[in-house]
Amino acid sequence: MSDKRRRVKIREAMRLGRALRLVWSIAPRWTAASVILTVLQGILPLAAVWLMKLIVDRVATGITGPDHGAAFREIAVLIAWAAAVGLAVVVMRSLAALTDQVLGRLVTDHVTDIIHAQSVAVDLEFYENPRYHDALYRAQQEAPYRPTQIVNDLTSTIQALVTLLAMAGLLLTLHWAVGLIVLGAAIPGAFVRFRFAGKLFAWRSRRTEVERQAYYVHWLLTDSGHAKEVRLFDLGGRFRERYRQLRSLLRRELVGLTVRRSLAELAAGAGAVIAVFGTFAFIAWRAVQGVITVGMMVAYYQAFQTSLGSLQAVLRGFAALYEHNLFLSYYDEFMALEPRVRPPAQPLPMPRPMAEGIRFDNVDFSYPDTERIALRDISLTIKPGEVTAFVGPNGSGKTTLVKLLCRLYDPAAGAITVDGVDLRHLDVVDLRRDISVIFQDFAQYQLTVRENIGLGNVGVSEKDPSIEAAARDAGAHETISGLRHGYDTILGKWFDEGEELSVGEWQKIALARAFVRNAQILVLDEPTSALDPQAEWDVFQHFRELARGRAVVLISHRFSTVRTADRIHIFDQGRIIESGTHEELVALDGRYAQMYEVQARAYQPSS
Ligand code: ADP
Repeated sequence: MSDKRRRVKIREAMRLGRALRLVWSIAPRWTAASVILTVLQGILPLAAVWLMKLIVDRVATGITGPDHGAAFREIAVLIAWAAAVGLAVVVMRSLAALTDQVLGRLVTDHVTDIIHAQSVAVDLEFYENPRYHDALYRAQQEAPYRPTQIVNDLTSTIQALVTLLAMAGLLLTLHWAVGLIVLGAAIPGAFVRFRFAGKLFAWRSRRTEVERQAYYVHWLLTDSGHAKEVRLFDLGGRFRERYRQLRSLLRRELVGLTVRRSLAELAAGAGAVIAVFGTFAFIAWRAVQGVITVGMMVAYYQAFQTSLGSLQAVLRGFAALYEHNLFLSYYDEFMALEPRVRPPAQPLPMPRPMAEGIRFDNVDFSYPDTERIALRDISLTIKPGEVTAFVGPNGSGKTTLVKLLCRLYDPAAGAITVDGVDLRHLDVVDLRRDISVIFQDFAQYQLTVRENIGLGNVGVSEKDPSIEAAARDAGAHETISGLRHGYDTILGKWFDEGEELSVGEWQKIALARAFVRNAQILVLDEPTSALDPQAEWDVFQHFRELARGRAVVLISHRFSTVRTADRIHIFDQGRIIESGTHEELVALDGRYAQMYEVQARAYQPSS
């Protein structure tokens, strides 16, 4: 075995060991119960077989013996024992099913929680880069149920192994060759399973993207966000057709694989049947010769059948464990993702209060795996107590700059500093605690109004008056007062009694969320694009107050808003091409003046 192969094997074995430790650590008592039940269930078949032998032999001697009544009494006692064993089997089976159910749920919920934790911990890049989507999809699809299956398969494998060992002991007293036959009959089936577990894994890995495409189309068809357009543009038929095509491709390939596996299993199974009856003939021959009793013949035959069944179960279990193990590598792949944006070993405290503000010095940035430069040679200062506005066409880099400011990405060149401290030397959580951002695509939480706003500052209790104050600043208070349960109304249409808001009303809620956060830096990316002019005007009345002591960054296309800023930067293709106050920029008669002119002439503020 090459070194690399050996390393892979070791890693795989470790994965299985880790999966077991994981299950044990999540629910030790349930795991222990499961193991005990497993072992007991493994031993019981031997008792059943042995009792059967005793019964048959006693019946045989009873037939020829003088006292049928006495014989039957003895037989009845044996049958009672056999019934007790049968009952014990039933009880154990129910208990084991219960244990496995509970254990399965505990493990699934726990692993899902781990996946959630990792989903939050990874960089934003993970969600913005298609390279990672397969990993996320696979981890979500496989990880929650594989560890449980490992436990289930492991318990059933151990159980089968215990039965096998017990039966094999009995069988070897007949003839050593019988053991070999059992092995020979079971191995081909196992081989088939191992082989196809590997093939299935390779197929899944290759087809994840197609599966995701199908899932995406399914989502388009069933998600509320697309329901309007799907109806209006009559897209249902088209999307359904695409879904059918994708699924049928996957189905054809999977069915092909399954058919080949079934054929191979059939061949292996037929071989096993021949071996069973061949051995039965041998056992019958020994009985006819008088080497063994009739009871022994029955016991041997049962033992043989049970061993073969157990061995098949053991090997099937190993094959299944092997398959789970392969699929667990998806979980590993996902868990191994390390954030690129790393906290420093010894983080410096975030300057509070900021004195000079945030400086960008010759910052360059490209998104990972892209050629295009998103920001080029950006230098600017965002000062506390000031409103800084960014203006520029779509795709000119404004939002990207904000992402860098929040350290969702690190610059490729240059530096971003807060009061002279590089962002990379600050604790990420500490930095972000001091930034309040409402992005263009802000979240709409299907929660109560109070929570929707309160989520902006997790340190604030739901009853805190600052929530209502923020709502008033954002111009949302009146809307909220008109809702059925005021601040306790659930928003959106996902849940009972939820009330849907208009886009502009949602935006006001998002603004309130930004306001309630007691952060030194407030960033508003198109914060008022969906507000009517009056509402916008009202909000901006509060802006100066909000900016007191804070650094406010405003991204907007509305010049009525932008012109009030203390400093305006004009972006174009990732560069800043003009900077100044409204008056300075108008006097400059450059791009800003031109854009301002166009909007003034159009009269209506565009969004
Ligand atoms: P703006 O906010 O000015 O509209 P953005 O900062 O969102 O512009 O985008 C700047 C450039 O970066 C655009 O060319 C856009 O296509 C690209 N871009 C934005 N987000 C990503 C991303 N996650 N991955 C790759 N490129 C991106």
